[in-house]
Amino acid sequence: MRKFKTESKKLLDLMINSIYTNREIFLRELISNASDAVDKLYFRSLTDPEVAVARDDLAITVSFDAEARTVTVSDNGIGMTKDEMDKNLGTIAHSDSYEFKAAQAAAAADSEPGEEKGLNDLTDVDIIGQFGVGFYSAFMVGKKVRVISRAVGTDEAWAWESDGVEGYDMVIAERAEHGTDVIVYLKDDTDEESFGTFASEHGLTQLIKRYSNYVRYPIKMEVTKS
Ligand code: ADP
Ligand code: MG
Repeated sequence: MRKFKTESKKLLDLMINSIYTNREIFLRELISNASDAVDKLYFRSLTDPEVAVARDDLAITVSFDAEARTVTVSDNGIGMTKDEMDKNLGTIAHSDSYEFKAAQAAAAADSEPGEEKGLNDLTDVDIIGQFGVGFYSAFMVGKKVRVISRAVGTDEAWAWESDGVEGYDMVIAERAEHGTDVIVYLKDDTDEESFGTFASEHGLTQLIKRYSNYVRYPIKMEVTKS
């Protein structure tokens, strides 16, 4: 197991336990990462003759497996090598001011206990923008997150897996083509209200509709029923 850096652990703890009140935003974050990955592939294809993409094939897929209780966000974007996975998913960007700002955000969230925050709540957006911690929002709803990725131009895929506490493991994996799958294993204690929002076909469809406004690639939905 590779351990998260101390700063990353502290931030993860804050993310999971205090900052976010809208846990469903994990889906927005994973979709936005998938969209970035597809953008990167597309722009690479404009300058790199080795990389050819059919623009119409570029897409993001959100899958829901009711029995396994998993939500998966997949893209056929640029993908990550083993080293990129280690660097990008293993370390949360360190900022000298993060403790100060994150503590402020946590204090602000604590002082309004009963208040439901809106989707565009500024605290959430600022923290994400400031620290680039979007990926880690998956641990607000996931007891485990597994990322399978294959970088474009390589024939090797890697899997990264973590429970969001101490660290993560990476093992060799398989993937038919370049791109990334982020598989979120939903927590057991997910309350009914949240469950209806992001752990049901209907809830996910609504969320996807909301977030797809900001994404220029098609978002497909796949549902596995037991
Ligand atoms: P940000 O998107 O602000 O950079 P995130 O925490 O959301 O921060 O993601 C961290 C990094 O992980 C990204 O910058 C990117 O390098 C990598 N990453 C995350 N998701 C994907 C994906 N689906 N495909 C390729 N790289 C990804
Ligand atoms: Mg992001």
